[in-house]
Amino acid sequence: MDLLGTLRGILAPGDLITGEACEPYLTDHRRLYRGRALAVALPRSVEEVSRVVVACNTARVGVVPHGGNTSYCGGATPDESGAQLVLALARLNRIRSVDPENYSLIAEAGCVLARVQEAAETAGRHFPLSLGSQGSCQIGGNLSTNAGGVHVLRYGMMRDLVLGLEVVLADGRVLPGLTALRKDNTGYDIRGLFLGAEGTLGVITAASLKLFPQLKSAATAFVAVPSPAAAVTLLARLREASGDLVSSFELIPRIAVELTTRHIPGVSDPLEAAHPWYVLCELGSARAAEPLEALLTEALGAALEAGLIEDAVVARSERERAALWKIRETIPESQRHEGPGLKHDISVPVSALPQFVARGAEWVAAHVPGARLIAYGHVGDGNLHFNLQARPAEGAALLARGEEVRRALHDLAAALGGSFSAEHGIGRLKVAELERYAPATELALMHAVKRALDPNGIMNPGKVLRSG
Ligand SMILES: Cc1cc2nc3c(=O)[nH]c(=O)nc-3n(C[C@H](O)[C@H](O)[C@H](O)COP(=O)(O)OP(=O)(O)OC[C@H]3O[C@@H](n4cnc5c(N)ncnc54)[C@H](O)[C@@H]3O)c2cc1C
Repeated sequence: MDLLGTLRGILAPGDLITGEACEPYLTDHRRLYRGRALAVALPRSVEEVSRVVVACNTARVGVVPHGGNTSYCGGATPDESGAQLVLALARLNRIRSVDPENYSLIAEAGCVLARVQEAAETAGRHFPLSLGSQGSCQIGGNLSTNAGGVHVLRYGMMRDLVLGLEVVLADGRVLPGLTALRKDNTGYDIRGLFLGAEGTLGVITAASLKLFPQLKSAATAFVAVPSPAAAVTLLARLREASGDLVSSFELIPRIAVELTTRHIPGVSDPLEAAHPWYVLCELGSARAAEPLEALLTEALGAALEAGLIEDAVVARSERERAALWKIRETIPESQRHEGPGLKHDISVPVSALPQFVARGAEWVAAHVPGARLIAYGHVGDGNLHFNLQARPAEGAALLARGEEVRRALHDLAAALGGSFSAEHGIGRLKVAELERYAPATELALMHAVKRALDPNGIMNPGKVLRSG
């Protein structure tokens, strides 16, 4: 029997899509890649995932795991051959259990992140991973990209939020690792290999996730700062002043305020005058009685007197808080309205961030004078989305210089001890960058792990590592 016939025997009618119905699975979020697929499988159980993978392994057909398709690196898009199977996890989407006393829950890979957050809140707990894409990205995708987001400063990346994993290996065996243990020093961290592996080593089917006390009080401010250096100093002071209650600290350039107010309905500039840089910062506490607003106001007052900040507004209601966050969260969308651009996801040590911005901006001004620089992101993680936006008529010209710009900015990040991919991963987009910047020994180990776990090279071929 051919592969499609075998898959029809495994999956329920309607759970194997072919032909034109595959269309939504063939283009990545940024529209950088457009692939073709043999079919799209939508399994509903771990057993079905396993049987599908066995069939593909036997037929030596590539399997492309597909979550919410919000990857910025083309990781979930099949290649152009039309020979790969897209394995979409959307129907494997149960919250299997919640254990409030163990501060943990078990979610299947296809659960949308926002649903996991809601399940935690319903149980009186908090799941802190938070991304602009949380209404559509899935837990399996978050684990496979080791997603970051706006709370890494306080809670760490996805890797830090995992207790255990269940994975279907490339030969179809199920790795049963849904432990709820916080301590388990029993040999190599095999499960850890699948975090950030972008579907190249196996299919994650479920995860045991860490929960935290619910946040009962918060204070949010939109702060104008003269420079990224001032933002870094302000963060250090706020961490001290609050007893490390800073949960988010996001750098926003003036141009992002201009683009969001121009393109996103309901967004307005919260401050009267224009300033070169802003910080959206939030304190959060599990204690309802914590006087966070007073604490933040006092700390910002001291920073104003010290010349560290230029102005600030503290949100007085949930509505005002949501309005401030909307500015930050809609920056990517507002950029899309302006046409094509070049995106970079760099990280450097927090203390080197001002230097990166200064030297990066200088390079851009000297070499790509027509481009507008939109550098924003997670100051507390030393992670900036250092994006260049073309003026409307100059999109194609800017894109044509992508390689040169990428090289300059990634070399600069490397020179400052940084990374060319802080939180978005490698996917298809950055395979050559990994080859260029990863130490040779590390790259060799990655290939060895890939060969050991996926000897036939069927798992997401061509992503992270060059195949063949
Ligand atoms: C508006 C917006 C804001 C964003 N903000 C952030 C941010 O702040 N921080 C951040 O880190 N990212 C951010 N992202 C990027 C993206 O949302 C994350 O990378 C997210 O974790 C991807 O999840 P997904 O379910 O969409 O995965 P997909 O895009 O579907 O897949 C991503 C990769 O994981 C693999 N994969 C998916 N599911 C599985 C599985 N079950 N088993 C094995 N492999 C699998 C795919 O093959 C692919 O390689 C943002 C994206 C958008 C559009």
